[in-house]
Amino acid sequence: MRFKDKIVLVTGGAGAIGSAAARRFLAEGAQVAIADLDGDKAAMLAKELGAEAAGFAVDVSEPAEVEAMVGAVVDRFGRIDVLFNNAGISGTVAPVHMLPLEDWNRIVGINLNGIFHVLRATLACMIAGKVQGAVVNMGSSMAGWDVLAGGAGYAATKHAVVGLTRIAALDSAPYGIRVNAICPGVIETRLGVPSMDEDAYQAGIRRFSDRIPLRRIGQPEDVAAAVAFLASDDARHVTGADWLIDGGQTLQSWANA
Ligand code: NAD
Repeated sequence: MRFKDKIVLVTGGAGAIGSAAARRFLAEGAQVAIADLDGDKAAMLAKELGAEAAGFAVDVSEPAEVEAMVGAVVDRFGRIDVLFNNAGISGTVAPVHMLPLEDWNRIVGINLNGIFHVLRATLACMIAGKVQGAVVNMGSSMAGWDVLAGGAGYAATKHAVVGLTRIAALDSAPYGIRVNAICPGVIETRLGVPSMDEDAYQAGIRRFSDRIPLRRIGQPEDVAAAVAFLASDDARHVTGADWLIDGGQTLQSWANA
């Protein structure tokens, strides 16, 4: 019950990793605000999870919507102790010279600006309320360990999240607030391939797991467990860190693949 009496905000909370984290925080005693672009899905999940959860609709790329959402969470629960800043998209896969400008702007708007807007509004709220809170930003193994041809928007924004995390950790330390980033490898969610045929998806998962040293694909619950640790007092001396959760995926090289 590491989060007893704590208020946790999870963005992208209706998605695979976000909902696993919401369940984990609830299981450890928190009250959880589930914020997502899909407000109906967030509300349905909150209803399923019970009275300690509430759903909020927000587009994190819109600063005014983010301010309103953070205000609504504080109105509902009183304050925010923990932020899991998780909402994100995979974006278009295309070589840099062919990447449409609007696709670049969209991924930067959500994966970087969105993380910044939620971080900024929540930190302001924690500092104003003298809350010695914790933030976990969603990075990726693409933030400096893995590379994927055609994944410029995703890699650039996730690198930026790690950089933003380090500076935010420094800026927030005087207030007793910790800011870390989590960097998962391949996790079994349908991010980027929502409508792929199930057989093809499972074949892809098997191919990936054969290349991962621990011989399994990461699950949303694996990420949720690490997020809960970083957000808890067990990690009270951890700030500005970027944590790989990848089963050793990024230790592989062509030499022993
Ligand atoms: P997901 O698609 O299941 O969840 C993403 C959630 O974010 C969805 O519920 C979606 O509605 C929400 N969202 C998208 N745009 C939004 C916006 N503008 N405003 C608010 N909410 C928005 O995918 P997931 O795999 O759970 O991804 C969650 C995070 O984990 C993402 O940031 C992703 O980059 C990161 N990540 C995923 C993997 C992986 O392999 N699945 C690996 C590393 C990092």
